[in-house]
Amino acid sequence: MTKDVLVIGTGISGLAYAIHVADNNPETSLVLISKSDLNEGNTRYAQGGIAVVSNFKKDSFDKHVSDTLNAGAGTCDPEVVKFVIEEGHERLTELMNWGAQFDKKETKLDLAKEAGHSENRIVHYKDQTGQHIQEALIEKIKTYPNIELLEQHTLVDLITDHHSIKKENRCYGAYVISQKEEKIIKITAKITVLSTGGAGSLFAHSTNPKIATGDGLGAAYRARVLMSDLPYVQFHPTALYPRVNGNTFLITEAVRGAGAQLFNSKGERFMLKNDPRAELAPRDIVARGIQREIEQQKEDFVWLNGSEIDMKQWETHFPTILETCKSLDIALPQDAIPVVPAAHYFCGGIKVNQKSESQLKGLYAIGECSATGLHGANRLASNSLLESLVFAQRAAQDTLDALKQKLPPMSFYRDIPEWKGDAYSNSTEIEAIKKYRRELQEIMTLYVGIFKTNEGLLIAENRIDKIYKAVTTIYNNNKLTNGLCELRNMVSIAHLITKQSQEITQNQGVFYNHDYA
Ligand SMILES: Cc1cc2nc3c(=O)[nH]c(=O)nc-3n(C[C@H](O)[C@H](O)[C@H](O)COP(=O)(O)OP(=O)(O)OC[C@H]3O[C@@H](n4cnc5c(N)ncnc54)[C@H](O)[C@@H]3O)c2cc1C
Repeated sequence: MTKDVLVIGTGISGLAYAIHVADNNPETSLVLISKSDLNEGNTRYAQGGIAVVSNFKKDSFDKHVSDTLNAGAGTCDPEVVKFVIEEGHERLTELMNWGAQFDKKETKLDLAKEAGHSENRIVHYKDQTGQHIQEALIEKIKTYPNIELLEQHTLVDLITDHHSIKKENRCYGAYVISQKEEKIIKITAKITVLSTGGAGSLFAHSTNPKIATGDGLGAAYRARVLMSDLPYVQFHPTALYPRVNGNTFLITEAVRGAGAQLFNSKGERFMLKNDPRAELAPRDIVARGIQREIEQQKEDFVWLNGSEIDMKQWETHFPTILETCKSLDIALPQDAIPVVPAAHYFCGGIKVNQKSESQLKGLYAIGECSATGLHGANRLASNSLLESLVFAQRAAQDTLDALKQKLPPMSFYRDIPEWKGDAYSNSTEIEAIKKYRRELQEIMTLYVGIFKTNEGLLIAENRIDKIYKAVTTIYNNNKLTNGLCELRNMVSIAHLITKQSQEITQNQGVFYNHDYA
């Protein structure tokens, strides 16, 4: 298959990008692939909303810029922060024109407040903002005749100079598993976009769905694309401790914003001793406060007490949380919710410029898999959907310009060789894959998680290295499976996070090494 544009990932960033390209040039041929169903990815789990300055009477771009820079602890790129926040309003209007609706108070947007924000500016749809956006974008994308959608198609590797006779430091598409056909196909393209989301599944507890295994990062790493800020993994302070259908469920911080408080098993409101802002301190401080308490009390979780929030507010603002807790026999508002911190958001990723292009020509990275400079060492709550929207539009604009320039002819793309390795199998179960995945999660959580030490990082480095060698052997001797592809990416990213963590000698944002405290 040869297209003008290949988009890998159908979350908010990939979908918004494709809509921009198709709207501005209906002649462009695009194919979008997703590893699972079209709607599965981090986007659909977003609860809080999008941070956008909308109430210009009270709020201002300057205030949002200042909040973002404060959260980033002096590590954000100020130029990027400024344009993302200034362009946000236009992108939100576009999103609403594309079919997404947000909660309103009378005729105006109902703006919520989250930790680290000095004003109410979070645009939301109940506690289902992401799912609602995802559905609206999917409905819209299906109306374009020039966009092909392929579900259950897994990126294996990017096609680069290594696979071609040209030496231009360029990306020419990707080798992709067609899961249903059980084969590996070649999709060549003039422009390739990675919008593959994060890698929360590297850790034992994560708010991300299981498919968030850093596949785009792994493929970019093998293509020698520069990656930065990987150790800045944001942990959400409050995820529901018991799993729901095998997944970790998020309790949005809007619940703490509405008055819920954290207690340990002795009934102490421990956040008061950590920060004067207590439960409403920035996420990294609350996550560390909870983790410290869990370690000191030798408990598995702490309690979130939302009994001060009345039933009507639970029903109108947090219906999904209410329903999920009910399914676990947790009767809100009177029962407290057992919570743990969980890996939530990758601030780092593929290093991109202000148009979201990576260092490999023709390869863009947008959304959570990219490192744009917006978040630095710590993301301000609800700034990631905003970042996805702004960079999707910028990347689309740049793509449209790039497609007008002289690119290799179609015949060149057709001559790129087919996948050379072994075929794909749906049915093969390689037992060792599950074992290594669990071991990797354990190592990352214990040594490369919320708290690190230099000794722990060294232990992690050695153990990850052994898993890397074992996975390489499995990869060389077996047919490919989805699980094997994921593990191959996870172990590479675990290695990179550990190595980059060893280079950081200062605690900043979400990064905390006891040896530098
Ligand atoms: C529980 C939760 C709550 C959140 N709440 C908020 C919030 O309130 N506000 C906010 O701003 N942010 C929030 N975030 C973060 C935000 O949702 C994500 O950063 C954002 O949605 C990422 O969008 P994306 O397009 O980059 O990737 P995703 O939405 O994660 O999509 C990734 C896509 O890549 C595809 N993919 C992955 N690997 C492969 C592969 N190998 N081959 C083919 N396709 C592949 C997937 O199938 C999927 O289509 C939250 C995240 C979570 C998990």
